[in-house]
Amino acid sequence: MQKIIAINAGSSSLKFKLFEMPEEKVIAKGLFDRIGLDEGKIKISYDNKESFEKKEHIENHSVAVKRLLDLLLNLDIIKSYAEIAGVGHRVVAGGEFFKKSVVVNTKVMRQINELAEYAPIHNPANLMGIKAFKKALPDAISVAVFDTSFHQTIPKTNFLFSVPYEWYHNYGVRRYGAHGTSHRYVANVAAQMMKKPLAELKIITCHLGAGASICAIKNSKSFDTSMGFTPLTGITMGTRSGDTDVAMISFMMQKLKMHSMPEIIYDLNKKSGLLGISGISSDMRDIEEKKKTSERAQLAEDIFVKDVVKYIGAYTAEMGGLDAIVFTAGIGENSAQIRKLVMRRLSYMGIMIDEERNNQRGKAEFVSTPNSKVDVLMIPTDEELMIARDVQVLASQNEDIHSKNYVV
Ligand code: ADP
Repeated sequence: MQKIIAINAGSSSLKFKLFEMPEEKVIAKGLFDRIGLDEGKIKISYDNKESFEKKEHIENHSVAVKRLLDLLLNLDIIKSYAEIAGVGHRVVAGGEFFKKSVVVNTKVMRQINELAEYAPIHNPANLMGIKAFKKALPDAISVAVFDTSFHQTIPKTNFLFSVPYEWYHNYGVRRYGAHGTSHRYVANVAAQMMKKPLAELKIITCHLGAGASICAIKNSKSFDTSMGFTPLTGITMGTRSGDTDVAMISFMMQKLKMHSMPEIIYDLNKKSGLLGISGISSDMRDIEEKKKTSERAQLAEDIFVKDVVKYIGAYTAEMGGLDAIVFTAGIGENSAQIRKLVMRRLSYMGIMIDEERNNQRGKAEFVSTPNSKVDVLMIPTDEELMIARDVQVLASQNEDIHSKNYVV
């Protein structure tokens, strides 16, 4: 029995989940928000019912980590720091270098820093979290789990853009994808629920949150995914445009009298998607509520559903068949309506909806009928659990773990 903590460090936040392993029991979770800003916020929930909340200035990530560990002690969640055997960190960009999760050493930290050119906001923040925990818990194993590594099995035909080959060869421009930890987790749960080896299945996982991506998984490997060099491509998202024609950029820069690329990229990232189309909200709940009275809210929902249907069709063709579709993340887990609209449009595949199960919430469930030609499942994602599992696997591989570069 040991405790493992999963960390997601952003530029001004630090989210955590503390697990008792191998039981996979969550014993505490929480958030340190507004780090480095005037008034920070701490929220920790534990013991299934208790919670701690306080507003206080949190100077930097090191202070946040020290405060977190002290609170875990003071709230009697742990008896000593030594109980935490491992720390797993979400890292956004692993490039082509990190194909699996790895134990963090100095070389790994240097590489994460070098890969910051692919994720300029996220990788430096992830690294701050890693350094702060290494300082506070020098004896715990430290593991980096990359959003991109699951997609490193995507074949060249699917990861290359049709641009001059040198862009890839010289500068690493290619499809890296995202949400890899989530796609990997739900695909594994789906195979268990279907009682079949993942290696024998063709699955399409739909991670539909504020950010959304779709992944084709063939023989247990990521085969294609909708996000690209950055998270901007793929399906329509809360505020991101998804796939567009890049040639409209110079046209619109002239029309809007914009003088720099970041201005228009900002609009494509922050003012587009459901928000851009509806003019109302980036949140699917608002879109569903307003669609009766707003033509543009209805249009936003229609485009979102069409995009999901389009990618499922394309990936089924690419894989040469389909055994299961999985819905996950905020919209995928909570919106029976979106799942139903997508499944209806896929009735040509022999997909049949189990209306009663589709209307349930909260736990993993088949939402298609037993005689549906393709299984459809709703599976709540758990990226933190996947991170904790990776830490555990790596920790068990060798006692001399700190000196080597083991991979999961
Ligand atoms: P992210 O992790 O990308 O920030 P989440 O996976 O938490 O996003 O998903 C958040 C989104 O989920 C919200 O913006 C909202 O659109 C959607 N969502 C949450 N609950 C519901 C619901 N009951 N019905 C429809 N959409 C929902």
